[in-house]
Amino acid sequence: MPVIRTITLLLALALAWFAGPSRAADRIVLDTAQPSLALAPHLTYRVDPEGRDDAATVFAQAARGELQPMPAEGTAFGFSDGAYWFHGQLFNQSRSEQRWLLVLHYPLLDNVDVYLRYPDGRVEHMVSGDTLPFSARSIRYRHPNFWLDLPQRTEVELLVRVSSRSSMQVPLAVYTPTAFAELERDSQFGIGLFYGILLALFCYNLVLWLSLRDASHFWYMCHVGGFGLVMLCLNGLAFEYLWPNSPWWANQAIPLSMALSQIAMHQFCRVFLELKQRQPWADRISQALIAFYIAMGLASFFLDYRAAVRPMTLAVFPGALYILYLAINAIRRGYAPAKVFLLAWAFLLLGTALYASVSFGLLEKTFLTEYGIQIGSALEMILLSFALSYRYGRLRGENERLVLEHNEQLERHVARRTSELSTALEQLAEANQRLRESNRRDALTGLFNRRHFRDMFEHQISRANEHGQPLGLLLMDLDHFKRINDTYGHLAGDECLRWLGRCLHDILVEHGALLARFGGEEFVVVIPDVQGERLLMIAEQLRKCICDDPVRYAGNNIRMSASIGAFLIRPGSGISADGALHKADDALYAAKDAGRNRVHAADGVTSV
Ligand code: GH3
Ligand code: MG
Ligand code: MG
Repeated sequence: MPVIRTITLLLALALAWFAGPSRAADRIVLDTAQPSLALAPHLTYRVDPEGRDDAATVFAQAARGELQPMPAEGTAFGFSDGAYWFHGQLFNQSRSEQRWLLVLHYPLLDNVDVYLRYPDGRVEHMVSGDTLPFSARSIRYRHPNFWLDLPQRTEVELLVRVSSRSSMQVPLAVYTPTAFAELERDSQFGIGLFYGILLALFCYNLVLWLSLRDASHFWYMCHVGGFGLVMLCLNGLAFEYLWPNSPWWANQAIPLSMALSQIAMHQFCRVFLELKQRQPWADRISQALIAFYIAMGLASFFLDYRAAVRPMTLAVFPGALYILYLAINAIRRGYAPAKVFLLAWAFLLLGTALYASVSFGLLEKTFLTEYGIQIGSALEMILLSFALSYRYGRLRGENERLVLEHNEQLERHVARRTSELSTALEQLAEANQRLRESNRRDALTGLFNRRHFRDMFEHQISRANEHGQPLGLLLMDLDHFKRINDTYGHLAGDECLRWLGRCLHDILVEHGALLARFGGEEFVVVIPDVQGERLLMIAEQLRKCICDDPVRYAGNNIRMSASIGAFLIRPGSGISADGALHKADDALYAAKDAGRNRVHAADGVTSV
């Protein structure tokens, strides 16, 4: 923000002009009644654009009153080249404390030189900053610090030189050892709480991710981890605890962790807000932003610190605003989880805005600006965790609904298919039944055919034997049937055979007889549990029926007659089916021989 810096400088110059010729700074009285003191209001300063001046030169300039009072906006100067010099007169009024601790509450400064000039002209020089190993510090503390030996009631001149590639913030303060211990206690508690929340959320989501394998938990975890790392770097804890002996890496880790956290943040946003499906054009912008941070993260290894950090810091705020816009857009399109997301984001944005404002010298460092980002981000992370579980719950509900719907559909489908299948099975059974039936029926007369007759006949013989009952067998052959065919045609012959089938069936049905077409114009009848007399009587009845009634066909009265051979199978006779048929056949031939149109009984039919 060069414009703001220029305005600041112009304002400072104007103030200095109105205040008249520069005056020597106030004496800074240190007293145990006021065990901690911010030095800024009491200092004078000058910018050394080339960074070439030495302490002696600046001491001399201070003595001549050439240094300016501190600007009204405070101790943040934004990014600037060269060195800044700060000067003040310390006067230790305390009787008990001779050692005071000077702390520069900004951990990213590269080089900090402190000069103490005692009345006897002796100058003590101390150095700190994150270009030196952490062990070079007076006490193990995340901000640069220096023990000041201040003899009682003696005026000691303090000169501080700061140069850094990071943003220039110089909130200097002095403390008695006790006051510092108390200050540290409170801030350690706050820091512990903040990182405790982050660590808990990180582990919680790690477990969730491992068990659910949902990408949103993974990126949330990276977001928390990346963000935590940035914060650890920015407040000096990473340097203190993670890599205290590597100043190079302490500086390199800042742009790198910034890039990582931003990549994770945009990636999380993509997954959580389901940009690919819901806002495809925005998804491409997010991908471009991620590509930018990947490139900057890699470039940070080769670029100057400021060249790497500055574009990224500048992109953070618009990036966060962009996410805010995406969340609002998602809500407008009816995506409910985005509401909690938006609230969370607003907190982080506020914190980031406050912190960035200090970096660029827009706002003074206060509790809210210094810790606002921690408070805002902790709230953001907690709310995002809620948002994740809300989203998860919604997805699960949606999933259950889909599964239920699918199951119902499946059940309906299965029921339909089952009924179709059972209908098909019924049809198949019917077809089988029909097929079996047609297999055992004669096509012309509809009577049983010879094959079926054989099966049934053998079965009936054994059953009659079992029950000790006789079985009557009649074999019938139409007389001179060939003539009928020859005279009236085959169709007429067919009709005669059909008629005969009906006629035989009508008579025999009441006797429980088995009737079949034996072949051509031959028919066979088996009558169960019948005596010889009755068998012959039935045979006679059949014969009579055939010759009494003519068959009417095409205006003709066709007369027929039949010869019948009768045989009686006695129980226990041991005669086979073929044997019995032979006997009946012989009787039939005998009937033919005897002049046709008659019944002939085989031997023994009427003998019992
Ligand atoms: P017989 O008194 O000696 O039995 O003389 P027949 O003419 O009846 O005997 P034959 O065995 O010489 O002739 C049987 C005839 O029956 C021959 C055949 O044309 C006829 N026939 C056999 N099956 C059918 C049929 O399904 N339909 C018709 N129309 N005729 C048949
Ligand atoms: Mg015949
Ligand atoms: Mg015949």
